[in-house]
Amino acid sequence: SAPDFARAIPILQQLEQAGYEAYFVGGSVRDALLHLPIHDVDIATSAYPAEVKQVFARTVDTGIQHGTVMVLLHGTGYEVTTFRTESGYQDFRRPDHVTFVRDLAEDLKRRDFTVNALALRHDGTVVDLFAGLSDLAEHRLRAVGDPHARFHEDALRMMRAVRFESQLGFHIEAATTAAIADNAALLAKISVERVASEFNRLLLGHWRQQGLASLIDTGLAEFAPRLAGQASALQAFAALPATPFASLEIGWTLLSHFLQQAPGPLLKAWKQPNALIAATQHAVTLLAAMPQPSDWQLYEAGEAAVVTATAAQTYLQPDFDAASVQTRYAQLPIHAAADLAINGGTLIQAGVQPGPKLGQTLQRLTQAVVAGELPNTQAALLAASRADPC
Ligand code: ATP
Ligand code: MG
Repeated sequence: SAPDFARAIPILQQLEQAGYEAYFVGGSVRDALLHLPIHDVDIATSAYPAEVKQVFARTVDTGIQHGTVMVLLHGTGYEVTTFRTESGYQDFRRPDHVTFVRDLAEDLKRRDFTVNALALRHDGTVVDLFAGLSDLAEHRLRAVGDPHARFHEDALRMMRAVRFESQLGFHIEAATTAAIADNAALLAKISVERVASEFNRLLLGHWRQQGLASLIDTGLAEFAPRLAGQASALQAFAALPATPFASLEIGWTLLSHFLQQAPGPLLKAWKQPNALIAATQHAVTLLAAMPQPSDWQLYEAGEAAVVTATAAQTYLQPDFDAASVQTRYAQLPIHAAADLAINGGTLIQAGVQPGPKLGQTLQRLTQAVVAGELPNTQAALLAASRADPC
């Protein structure tokens, strides 16, 4: 983690040499102080965007209306954002309009949680205006300022709180928790995509049980798509073994299982991508056949769903032998229509009439090969197709 900051230090120094203030801010400071790997290095500065562009030779206007200029250094792009305040919140969502300011304090006080409101200078000095360092040491999430007002301004922060709980293993302190409970209904004002992005990160967190417990206990779940009135199903889902989900597919498969909701409508309500929906549908179908799915059910599920559903089953049945089911799948004679020694064209050449019956014949031959009843050779399959009683 340190090297990432180290490489970006010249950016802070050059801004200071030009007469401005500049700091590392946001999640990378938090994560570095926690000795976690850092992702994006966010830099905040008193320089206005046009001034940032004057200081550096190579910049890209990535989000200039929000005050962000990307500075290119040694082939890496660093986001440099002017200190700003956000005012004029409407509809409980983040405003589009921002005001640039010269004062770091103004910028830090608009941030969501004290552990996200630390600033780190190039010399290693930490600016800590809201006792974020002690909250960090105590693994505590505390809203900056009046929690009620802050969640009223931007209801997404409530989802971020439970997401950070799951990601970091922190606890939301009492006044912040109470304010989430009071404002939970405002979650309905936030776009589903943004709520889903936080929820997905909650699902994948190492302290998922903790994040889910807060989602339920604060009442936030009542205002999330298709989770209202599902407290007992959610409790059961939250009580699954604590092992982190290795994929979103596993998380959504188990959630769909406990909610007894088909993945299609559930994941569409959460505006999830079609690929995730399809993968989850296959896995849920196979999960319903666990712990002893037939060879045909394994074939129809496909490899990805076999991996997902066997992993999901281990949460439901800790002694489940996922490896042996995966081995059975691997040892199937074929894994896809393309593996079959014949196809529609081969059958037509052999004199079978095109039409619906052709498809049925192919399906029967596929099933027989998967079941090990027929060898997967052209000769055997053509002979069987001629013998087909239909
Ligand atoms: P991660 O990158 O792991 O998601 P992060 O804390 O860096 O965590 P970002 O969404 O990258 O989260 O935001 C960067 C910083 O911007 C945050 O640390 C916080 O200071 C501030 N921030 C982001 N979203 C909000 C918000 N909705 N309200 C207030 N401040 C926010
Ligand atoms: Mg970040």
